[in-house]
Amino acid sequence: MNMDLVIKNGRVVIPGVGVVEAEIGVENGKIAEISKRNLEGEEEIDAKGNHVVPGVIDPHIHLGIFEAFEKECEYETRSAISGGVTTVGCFFGGGESYFDVFPDAVKTAEDNVYTDIFFHLVIGNDVQLEEMERYAGELGVTSFKFYMAGIPGIIEPVSDGFLLKAFRKIAEMGYPAIACVHAENASLVDLATEELRAKMDDGTLEDWEKTHPGYVEEEAITRVTYLVGLANARLYVVHLSSMDGLNAVIDAKQWNENFYVETTSPYLSLTKNDDFGLLGLMVPPFRSKEDVDALWEGVEDGWIDSFGTDNVSMTRAVKSAEKGMWNTMPGYPFLATHLPVILHEGLHKRGIALETLMEKASKNPAKIFGLYPRKGTIAVGSDADLVVVDVKRERKVNHEELHSYSDFSLLDGRTLKGWPVLTVRRGEVVMQDNEILARKGTGMYLKRNLK
Ligand SMILES: [Zn+2]
Repeated sequence: MNMDLVIKNGRVVIPGVGVVEAEIGVENGKIAEISKRNLEGEEEIDAKGNHVVPGVIDPHIHLGIFEAFEKECEYETRSAISGGVTTVGCFFGGGESYFDVFPDAVKTAEDNVYTDIFFHLVIGNDVQLEEMERYAGELGVTSFKFYMAGIPGIIEPVSDGFLLKAFRKIAEMGYPAIACVHAENASLVDLATEELRAKMDDGTLEDWEKTHPGYVEEEAITRVTYLVGLANARLYVVHLSSMDGLNAVIDAKQWNENFYVETTSPYLSLTKNDDFGLLGLMVPPFRSKEDVDALWEGVEDGWIDSFGTDNVSMTRAVKSAEKGMWNTMPGYPFLATHLPVILHEGLHKRGIALETLMEKASKNPAKIFGLYPRKGTIAVGSDADLVVVDVKRERKVNHEELHSYSDFSLLDGRTLKGWPVLTVRRGEVVMQDNEILARKGTGMYLKRNLK
């Protein structure tokens, strides 16, 4: 019997398990066979001894913040598949009830995305809080985002009481319902910011870090893991950025194991001392080399469960770094470089096994958000989301080759070792040698259900 697609001569990476030399047969977009024997396919791909990893799941991106949602769905998910990311988890927020706006957003996404996509809904007011369970049942969204500290002028923070109430609802819903929390202490951020503002009319990226010192993350993680423990709900701490924050994670895990921690590929690779200056302004901020090393130790020791990007695409004009520290917009594009950075920093610089890295880059996000085993692994019956990776390939980053509309990358000019050479999404070859082969709108919305 001929398969639709066969990948030959690959070293197949099963996250958390190991690497096997096998052929992968794909039928109707799903993995139909993983075998040592010779499979035959209508289309055959020679992986040439390279690794075949499961499609990367970036559970943390934003679309439509500084550009139209429709445009970002198209351009930024195109950038994602060029980098081996086949599924994205997008934060969606604003307004009152999501029943008014979300169905249209899903339609727009499905008309434009190249990757598969799922959403987390930001819960920021009482209407949304009351409707959470219906969002799960009727909209297919089972993960909810809460900001303990907001982004001034963009997102309002919520109170501890609001959080506890929401956590109780999430606990009632059961798996895979989960609270995603931006953990920073809002009042302490305000204080640190006011104190710095009184001293400085402008500053550098190093100064910016002082507006969000590590202890604001440490305190908020301590508090939110306490609150979630009271409610017995599942928790996902987004974008851990600091050594202080990691210490709070380790302390909290001693008595509450029921939470997960994400860091981002930018926090695992970049610092406040890098030469891109205010282009790197972000919340939470880039920190020191010691923080980067601590986060990698957290990865190796198993405290950190997953990798995201917190991708917020924009142009230099929107970023406005030339207007000074107090007027620069937070965010940067990162999707196309997510996997290369993980390979460069994790596999090559620190010698962490590929199957461990792929656990955090694909399997764990799938499990945490209720997409496993359809996504997140290479197994018979799973979606055929597969990436052929040449771990030895070196390439200098140039934002013009990253398929995003953004006109910069923080990594411009740096050489990274380890790049995807071919991406398959649900059985379709969507990228080869950095050429996009799919049409827009071929990605799908991943509706999730409560068990
Ligand atoms: Zn974010």
